[in-house]
Amino acid sequence: TRPTTADIRRDFLEFFAGRGHTIVPSAPLVPGNDPTLLFTNSGMVQFKDVFLGAEKRSYVRAADVQRCLRAGGKHNDLDQVGYTARHHTFFEMLGNWSFGDYFKRDAIAWAWELLTGVWKIPAERLVVTVYHTDDEAHAIWRDVVGVPEDRIIRIGDNKGAPFASDNFWQMADTGPCGPCTEIFYDHGAHHFGGPPGSPDEDGDRFIEIWNLVFMQFDRQPDGRLEPLPAPCVDTGMGLERVAAVLQGVHGNYEIDLFQALIAEAARLTGTSDLDNKSLRVIADHIRACSFLVADGVLPSNEGRGYVLRRIIRRALRHGWMLGVRQPFFHRLVATLDAQMGEAYPVLRDQRALVERALLAEEERFAETLDSGMRIFDEVAARSDAASSGVIPGADAFRLYDTYGFPLDLTADMARERGMEVDTAGFDAAMAQQRETARAAGKFGGGTTLPAELVARMQPTAFLGYDHVQAGGLEVVA
Ligand code: ATP
Ligand code: MG
Ligand code: MG
Ligand code: MG
Repeated sequence: TRPTTADIRRDFLEFFAGRGHTIVPSAPLVPGNDPTLLFTNSGMVQFKDVFLGAEKRSYVRAADVQRCLRAGGKHNDLDQVGYTARHHTFFEMLGNWSFGDYFKRDAIAWAWELLTGVWKIPAERLVVTVYHTDDEAHAIWRDVVGVPEDRIIRIGDNKGAPFASDNFWQMADTGPCGPCTEIFYDHGAHHFGGPPGSPDEDGDRFIEIWNLVFMQFDRQPDGRLEPLPAPCVDTGMGLERVAAVLQGVHGNYEIDLFQALIAEAARLTGTSDLDNKSLRVIADHIRACSFLVADGVLPSNEGRGYVLRRIIRRALRHGWMLGVRQPFFHRLVATLDAQMGEAYPVLRDQRALVERALLAEEERFAETLDSGMRIFDEVAARSDAASSGVIPGADAFRLYDTYGFPLDLTADMARERGMEVDTAGFDAAMAQQRETARAAGKFGGGTTLPAELVARMQPTAFLGYDHVQAGGLEVVA
């Protein structure tokens, strides 16, 4: 029998617990220790200060299942969702950690043992990469693990600037960093894509499942690499990707957890084709949006709240494309809770709040979605007729300003038609409106902006802040 995602979480934690690792709970999506970071985008975020030597823990080995979001900031996979088999906005990262304890040899050997020994993935389906100068990791793969040399790929030299390559990891422009080794699964020649390092590496044939980072350095603001007090290991394996491998399917959306969400989304939207891309996007986005709200973010017009609003509105537009004209998105939370509530009690605890926040945003966007879609169609038809391939910035701005279509939503709609948005024109229209508003303020003596505009710029306060505080949540503006 094939392991469920729940089995895989458990197997992973048991494997590393059996090797002296302390099991640590997932941190929230809103980082508690780093105001510069929009979202927790990998497992290491909650351990950042430990790697820097600024914080001590009672353990030197840890393992966890970390909820992650890559929908803003340096890591943004929002535009990949629905287009690749392997990218989500929200996903779960299985990680094991050494804080100055074991290093490359154990990390590599254990990863291999779990994949090929415990989970019985055929070794010949796996390909590994090392950083081009990391002879140590290369030798471990070849001599300790026994991977044939032609399936150990050095990444770096063939990609131009070594530090622009995938195999040197850094969390940000400064901070902990070091060489990586990555493990890829070959889904077979009937899928498009080449091995890592090849020109077609972005295809979905060879899918990266596990990334092992050997943190040796702390990059300084001037770019210098200072050695860390004690080298550390940071690994991250995508739960959904390894589930696809272990469940014998190609894409993440085919795994048990996603199939449940997709089936429910299909039911709620009356869609019969379960492979419909919109269903996948909706299934992805309900996870991101629900966990964001559960972790204290509410839709608003700036910062994290605006990322949330943008993701919700993208999902609602996909629902609209499937013919839905009633609120439906919040109704998926029940299925999500059934799938993930046990692993993430915060979701279960906050479920009522999540449903209400999503419903309120659905009702709000419903006021303008339909008209906005009509206007977009007209504009796109005009651009088509003129063969310009461009949605004019002024139109994108009108959609944004009057109909609540975030720029990236309009850009995504344009992309589906093989068009682009004139973003410079959008920025110009925005700047001009600000200028007009400012001038009106100057001459109007006091009122700077029309009340309607002010209202739209406020964070959405539909639940009342008291309620939110009662739930123990933080409102992020
Ligand atoms: P890719 O090259 O496929 O975009 P990555 O190198 O950006 O992945 P890492 O930052 O190394 O990913 O993250 C560690 C692991 O997390 C990856 O090996 C992968 O299994 C998983 N992962 C990364 N991004 C995503 C995503 N957007 N959706 C699902 N899983 C992901
Ligand atoms: Mg990536
Ligand atoms: Mg990668
Ligand atoms: Mg990687």
